[in-house]
Amino acid sequence: MGLYDKFSRLANDRGQFQSSGLNPFGTCIDEIYSATEGRIGNQKIVLAGTNNYLGLTFDAQAIADGQAALAAQGTGTTGSRMANGSYSAHLMLEQELTAFFDRPTAIVFPTGYTANLGVISTLAGPGSVVLIDADSHASIYDACALGGAEIIRFRHNDAKDLERRMVRLGERAREAIIIVEGIYSMLGDVAPLVDIVDIKRRLGGYLLVDEAHSFGVMGANGRGLAEALGVEQDVDIVLGTFSKSLASIGGFAVGSKAMEVLRYSSRPYIFTASPSPSSIASVRSSLKMIAQHPELREKLWSNAHRLYQGLAKLGYELGPRISPVVPVMIGSKEDGLRFWRDLIAKGVYVNLVLPPAAPAGMTLLRCSVNAAHSEEQIDTIIQAFAALKK
Ligand code: PMP
Repeated sequence: MGLYDKFSRLANDRGQFQSSGLNPFGTCIDEIYSATEGRIGNQKIVLAGTNNYLGLTFDAQAIADGQAALAAQGTGTTGSRMANGSYSAHLMLEQELTAFFDRPTAIVFPTGYTANLGVISTLAGPGSVVLIDADSHASIYDACALGGAEIIRFRHNDAKDLERRMVRLGERAREAIIIVEGIYSMLGDVAPLVDIVDIKRRLGGYLLVDEAHSFGVMGANGRGLAEALGVEQDVDIVLGTFSKSLASIGGFAVGSKAMEVLRYSSRPYIFTASPSPSSIASVRSSLKMIAQHPELREKLWSNAHRLYQGLAKLGYELGPRISPVVPVMIGSKEDGLRFWRDLIAKGVYVNLVLPPAAPAGMTLLRCSVNAAHSEEQIDTIIQAFAALKK
């Protein structure tokens, strides 16, 4: 048997999508003009399938700071912080994150994926129990597998189901680790954090919240869902990424003083190169924008309302709540692919999401808005969906 033969079914499945027309998996966006516009082939497109929630990828200051760091500190660090040392900018960003979250410790990782891997796999080793939402991001599943803890999945956003499973654990619930996300990236819904915190207060356990899609997006200061719901005190560790609202690449964890020990015990922290100077510099710049420009969040939410309401009026089945992520449910994969290609032909780029990336066997067109979209661009997206109905 050949090395890749076991993938033949997957290859055939994906091959169907490549037979004619644009391939929705790993689409080449030929040019990027701004946070909201690009080109695919000959078609100019409105970008409505990103995680660039605050629209900061082309922020002039972030670009200037990134360029200055590139010139002053070079293209890369070429090593891990443990073996080769930290640059002062890594430490300054960590300090800025501790101030932003008002927590004693922040640790920066090369991506959000490695932040989850680094924190969860180290804390949830053999003998530990983790309770995770069934729709958790792959990085949470992979982190649990790497750590070797006992994994208990509870039904998506179902606090009652979590509670039943905690009760069944008896005394072990006191040490269990509960992991949920802020905004879920595919449906745009949010974890029932108030109910989960109530369960934690009664039954014990530790609570980790991955605010990847809600950081910069929710809360009066942009700290995420826990801030928006007033339960930050009950969250033990906040996990996040620099690749969405912060418009760069990297990840982070913030928590108590004791979390510092991860720097010496977390293999995904120790055995990988640290983020490059230009990424760190642009993240620091965008973090200031989040702190100083709450109007970006207001614009984002106003765009989210406009898109959600516009698509709902057309009769599309959408996600359960208004959110910067607006999923449009489509009946079949074939329809999904056809709609996705038609939208590009009409100048709108969204994400085609199939199972297992889409939950519960759904096919969806994942639209996302950002603070840089103009109302006209939101209307272009709505009109493109209206034309599909004809
Ligand atoms: N957590 C969640 C909930 C995510 O959606 C993602 C990325 N889509 C990640 C973690 C990983 O982040 P990164 O892309 O920075 O690796």
